[in-house]
Amino acid sequence: MNLSKTKYTNACVCKKMLWLDTYKSEVKGAIDLNSVMDNGNLVHDVARDILGDHITIEFNNDLKVMVDDTKKAMKQENVVICEASFIYKNNFCSVDILEKNKDSYNIYEVKGSTKEKDIFLTDISFQYYVLKNLGINVQKYYLVHLNSSYYRHGELELDKLFTKIDVTDEIKKLENVVANNIESINKAMESKEEPDIDIGIKCFNPYNCPYFTYCTSSLEKPNVFSINRLQTKKKLEYYKNKLITFKDLKDVEMNPKFKMQIEYELDNKEDYINYDNIKSFLDTLTYPLYYLDFETFQLPVPAFDNINPYMKIPFQYSLHYKEGENGELLHKEFLGTTPDPRRELALQLISDIPRDVCVLAYNMGFEKSVIKNLAFIFPDLREHLMNIHDNIKDLMVPFANKDYYNKAMQGSYSIKYVLPALFPNDESLDYHNLELVHNGSEAMSFYNTLFDKTKEEQEYIRDRLLKYCYLDTYAMVKVHDKLIEVVEKKNG
Ligand code: SF4
Repeated sequence: MNLSKTKYTNACVCKKMLWLDTYKSEVKGAIDLNSVMDNGNLVHDVARDILGDHITIEFNNDLKVMVDDTKKAMKQENVVICEASFIYKNNFCSVDILEKNKDSYNIYEVKGSTKEKDIFLTDISFQYYVLKNLGINVQKYYLVHLNSSYYRHGELELDKLFTKIDVTDEIKKLENVVANNIESINKAMESKEEPDIDIGIKCFNPYNCPYFTYCTSSLEKPNVFSINRLQTKKKLEYYKNKLITFKDLKDVEMNPKFKMQIEYELDNKEDYINYDNIKSFLDTLTYPLYYLDFETFQLPVPAFDNINPYMKIPFQYSLHYKEGENGELLHKEFLGTTPDPRRELALQLISDIPRDVCVLAYNMGFEKSVIKNLAFIFPDLREHLMNIHDNIKDLMVPFANKDYYNKAMQGSYSIKYVLPALFPNDESLDYHNLELVHNGSEAMSFYNTLFDKTKEEQEYIRDRLLKYCYLDTYAMVKVHDKLIEVVEKKNG
């Protein structure tokens, strides 16, 4: 078969993955977000300038055209070629950046990740194999990835945005490995029989494989892979020891939090409620009480000042609040009108939330980090922002501590599990009933492209974004009310 960098790399992780991609791709599940980030086109576009002027080989469905264009470009002296393309036998690769210095070359492989990963070397080693066999004299192989400690101030500084690592020695050691791998991949792909490969760490590392649901479809559900927050290594250890179903795992010694999920599922137990602990938590909350939730987006390449790659940039919040315990439920909200709405958002936030009031968030680490970043970049607003930050309490605590548990939570304390578990029949709290925007990832991507849309489209999207974020804080109000209700019921 024709192998590309991506196909080769996927097959090195698991041959079954490439086989399924080739013959049975309809069983593929959702793609892992991390892998999408690693292939961000924007990062590649920006990185093309790291060596200055360059020629780019345009994509063509006929790969031979790209190869011919590359040959022509390589005739020039001291040239930089992006997407330089080569074929050796049936192995095709496009090199992100090829630098020609007299008669020798350097290769730069660009990744949208902020970390070096072993899988990147697999990718580069395939290019090494192709170019070496074509007799191209490559001196150095570099891995280029984003530098998470770079904060933009003014013009984008490419030498600081990217980290360049010389991986030549590691790559050269892989020469024989690549040749052997290509032979065994081709053999596996010639067969019409699905490879008999069991699940293992490769299904989770370097990425969550999109075929995992398919490959585990014969296992009884729930099973060891359904245990929330149990380390992958531990799950695989149980799996290998044939401790797979919840029945198999019932008598295995493990952390009581994991045991709870198994037992509640098997024994169909009633809700567990630790009234005293819930009451102690509720006693820490005071009125006026504000329920806050942010939506954020991330950019691999910082487009504005004071951000680093993939920093969470707030563009929206919803705020429900009550002045007193029995007061009316009121609502305020913010949704940006510019690509970088941080200043407007911070100004409205301090106008919406007075100093010294109790603020509730669900999983407060996220809200706190967003506010802390705003306080850092806007020193004139810092005192008030940090006052809000310091008064945030976490509604997740009773669920994370398992002071309130029912089996529908499936071992999770994320609001996306807790909410339907507490209100299974309340359609107004069901995110599936929303239009267009149903989760944070969708909110992020709609805001990212909002300003490219027509006025009518923008109005439609803005309305749906507001409805989505509104539900996030309304859900918190309902969860809080539920905690009050169970404690009050117990106390008669
Ligand atoms: S889920 Fe695991 S076994 Fe199945 S294709 Fe993916 S990596 Fe291979």
